Amino acid sequence: MSTSCSNCLKTIPLEVFVLHEAHCVRFLSLCELCNVVVPKKLKLSHDETNHRLTECEFCCQKFEGKKLSLHKTSCKARPRPCLYCGAYFDLYTLINHEDTCGNRTEYCSSCGSYIIIKEYDEHIDLCILQDSLYPESLKQKPSSPHPAKKKLKKNTE
Ligand SMILES: [Zn+2]
Ligand SMILES: [Zn+2]
Ligand SMILES: [Zn+2]
Ligand SMILES: [Zn+2]
Ligand SMILES: [Zn+2]
Repeated sequence: MSTSCSNCLKTIPLEVFVLHEAHCVRFLSLCELCNVVVPKKLKLSHDETNHRLTECEFCCQKFEGKKLSLHKTSCKARPRPCLYCGAYFDLYTLINHEDTCGNRTEYCSSCGSYIIIKEYDEHIDLCILQDSLYPESLKQKPSSPHPAKKKLKKNTE
């Protein structure tokens, strides 16, 4: 015969039940949040490490210790890097930022034109490929004495 202890919810043999219960009530307490029996002395620190609510720094929702770190990996508001410049923004700002950032232009030194950042990587591949296929086209171009200065000019299209 056995019965369950109302304090720790464990099943206790009847012959030691009274003894157990007296001891249990005095020293142990059941954490209602995680259903774990914790020594009363440690209950405070148990709550502190497991159930204290901490605010997510990105979305300002509150989570328990362990859940917070899990949440942070999937938090929709956590900063993500811009595809084009690599700077970090929260999701809402990022959408607006990538729109303008991706439409900036970058100077291509192989063909001497300004290329929208969105298409830059693709362009460079093509540009270099063309240069290697038609190397004489390079020689026909007038070589600029200060190629670096061109980079500072605004797109004049
Ligand atoms: Zn008990
Ligand atoms: Zn707990
Ligand atoms: Zn969050
Ligand atoms: Zn950017
Ligand atoms: Zn080019």
